[in-house]
Amino acid sequence: MLGVKCYIACMRILIVEDEKKVAQFLQKGFQAESFTVDVAADGHTGLRLAQTESYDAIILDVMLPGKNGFEILTALRALKIATPVLMLSAKSDIEDRVEGLNLGADDYLPKPFAFSEVLARIRAIVRRKSADVMASFLTVADLRMDLLSRRVERGGKDIPLTNKEFELLQYLLRNKGRVLSRVILMEHIWDINFDSETNIVDVVINRLRRKIDDGFPTKLIHTVRGVGYALKEPTDDSATED
Ligand code: CA
Repeated sequence: MLGVKCYIACMRILIVEDEKKVAQFLQKGFQAESFTVDVAADGHTGLRLAQTESYDAIILDVMLPGKNGFEILTALRALKIATPVLMLSAKSDIEDRVEGLNLGADDYLPKPFAFSEVLARIRAIVRRKSADVMASFLTVADLRMDLLSRRVERGGKDIPLTNKEFELLQYLLRNKGRVLSRVILMEHIWDINFDSETNIVDVVINRLRRKIDDGFPTKLIHTVRGVGYALKEPTDDSATED
């Protein structure tokens, strides 16, 4: 991955599945398609990974030790983590399917399944999600980013940004309301193998903060001590420190 920007061809997925055979079958299949794959064999690990790591999609079994798939999905959506989710279940009855979709799953696949079907569905939900995020404007409060002209304004005032500041702000906007660790920001905005001792994230965040928050009564960029940063709507009062 050294310096190479990976798009659809090398996606990263999380498989939450306690049946070893099924998990291995999926893992091998996706690795053969050049996906980076993490596997969690219980609900707690699955939820922790889904919360702390950044995935293009999650394959989520319903019946799991610890926490079931519905509980994990509910927790993720409550945290505003919008990663596309494909639910798997041995129970193919309609209530399960409806419950999963109501809770915010993007698709549902009954077991047993063919790998080609899982792959096709994962590709479809990722495409659908990225079409949503391809909207040409991103906004938070009175700040607006025009992705086509690459212009940013707040309260009607033009804010010139460097490329890195623009990319960072765009990523924060796409993950609005979500706390993003320095590691996640480094992986997405700089390089995945970037030296983790660097304070580049803090430096660029501070520059961005001066440009978009200084002189405005409501601050949009918040520091979460020991974790990272979050961009928030002024009405979103989940605990942060500044
Ligand atoms: Ca299971």
